[in-house]
Parts: sequence; structure tokens; C-alpha cells
Amino acid sequence: MRPVRYLIISAAVVCLVFPVRIHCAAPGAPAAAFPGTAAGGELTVHVIDVGHGDAVLIQTPDGKNILIDSGAGEAVWSEGDMGELAVVPYLRELGVHVIDMLIISHAHYDHIGGMATVIKRLGVREVVDSGYPRTTQVYQDLLELIREKGIPYRKVRKGDILSFGAGVEARVLHPSRTEYRWGKRAEINNYSIVIRMEYGEVSFLFTGDLEKEGERDVLRAGYPVRSTILKVGHHGSKTSSTGSFVSAVRPEVALVSCGERPKFTREKPCRNLRRVGARIYRTDLRGTLVVRTDGKSYSVETEREGGYFPAGAASWGMALLWERAA
Ligand SMILES: [Zn+2]
Repeated sequence: MRPVRYLIISAAVVCLVFPVRIHCAAPGAPAAAFPGTAAGGELTVHVIDVGHGDAVLIQTPDGKNILIDSGAGEAVWSEGDMGELAVVPYLRELGVHVIDMLIISHAHYDHIGGMATVIKRLGVREVVDSGYPRTTQVYQDLLELIREKGIPYRKVRKGDILSFGAGVEARVLHPSRTEYRWGKRAEINNYSIVIRMEYGEVSFLFTGDLEKEGERDVLRAGYPVRSTILKVGHHGSKTSSTGSFVSAVRPEVALVSCGERPKFTREKPCRNLRRVGARIYRTDLRGTLVVRTDGKSYSVETEREGGYFPAGAASWGMALLWERAA
């Protein structure tokens, strides 16, 4: 069967079978406004397309705006300051001019490089950080800017509850105070702040760039991790999304924030996610990803059509080929 036809049939079957609304406009149909406005009582999660990096906006039913990370800054591999190019324009388009809580998942450049711009352009009421000691100039400058602006700064740890507003429970699952033991390469990623958020019957897990050592510790800590939606760790890299972690989370939907850096989209995480039945959405294929929920059901909308990972695709590579064929 030709890939295009297979993709269309797969998408049709998915739309009919699964109890979620997937944004499936017919080719050539006028594009609906994206991301659209949130209805009352809705919680919305936006995985903003920042190329290689992370920037996730959570809008709660109480009207709170929480931003986890802000994409990269200027770099050889980045198209520019993603705070300036992507995050600030996206938030302004949504009418967001003040961020109630800005969360630093960890202090790597693809997560904090765009943050200074976000802080300078938008109001920020509070910054949440793991406080993992990091000596890079970018991180030190960021802390200095937070101090200069007088923004309350809080370190959080495993077990802390974050105030996301009425009806939304958000708990920090990682890191703890006593985990400074991993090898150098894995350390910073493995100190990513991990948050599980629940709204009614729909739950989300945000894992930053957590790698396999961190995933193991999260499982050992014993908090519930099962979640409807998983923001996949470390841009879909093979360092993360181990079989045991993915089996415990058992997500229905997996959101991958990644750019066109092939080494970060390996097949093993994908296989693990597919094994538990997760539908995978990637920002490099679909652009910005938006999940809306009223606490009972949820929908996934995407900025661009056609990047849904077909159930029959054997690998990331094949999904990409099919995407291009379509
Ligand atoms: Zn990263």
C-alpha cells in the first residue's frame, strides 16, 4: 500500500477509534486558528516548537500561566534566541503578559538560553529551580537577572506541592536532596525537575531531560507515575524512556520536543512508547503541540498537519519518510 494512502487510512482509523479529538483538517481546508482560545474550566498544555530544546506552557482553569523552560538562546545549532523568536511571541498571541511561575527544569542551554529574554519581555511572579550547582555564565547571569528584578526564587525537591490553582494537583517527583552521585555526563540531566500534574481524570508527567538513572530513582521513590500524557524526556533521546519507566507511566500520548538533530530521535524510546500504545507527536514534524482537557476527556491539536506517528510505522525514520511522502 502506498505510504500516503496508508497514512490517511491510519489517521481515519485513529480519529474513529480513539476517544480523543485529533486536529484532522482536510487538506486544503482553511486552517482553523491555532492554538485557539481555551474554554472555561479547561486546562491547556502547549509544547511550543523551539527546535531542539524545551518550552512548555501550562494554562490552568484558574487562569494561571506556568512556563517550564524557554528554549535555547543563540547557538550554532539554534536558529536564534528562542525566547525572542518563539516563546514570547507565542505567549503574547495567547494574551499572556505575566508568567505566574517560571520553572527551570535544569540549567542546560537548550532549556534556559531563551529565558533571559522571556524575563525581560514578560512579567514573572516566581521562579522555581532545583538549585543544582551550575557554574556556566548563562546560568549565573540568569540568576543575577532574577535577583536584579526582585523575582521570588524558590528551590523545590521531591515531594513538594506546586500551587497551580484550584482543581490542579502538581507534585515534584524529583530530584531529592541526596542524589548527588551520578557520573559527570548524566548529572545535570538527571537533576531535572520532574512534575506530575493531575486535573480530574487526566494527568501529565513532565520530565525535563531526565535520563535512565533519574528515571530509575523516580520509580524507586514510589510516587504514582502513571500518566495520561508524557512529555518525553531528553527530546526523545535513547538516554531516556527506558522500557520499565515507560511501562510504569503507560502514557496514551507522548509529546516529544525536538529539532532536526537525528541523534536525539532514536528508535528505542519510540519502540518502548509504542509497546504501551502511546501515540507519539513530535514538534519537528508537527510544530507546536497543544493538549486541552476538561478533566474528563482530552484533545491533541497540532500546528501542522500530517506528523502523527502512524501505528504501523516501524521506526522514527519511517515515520519521517511517511510524513514527507504525505
Ligand atoms: Zn535538553
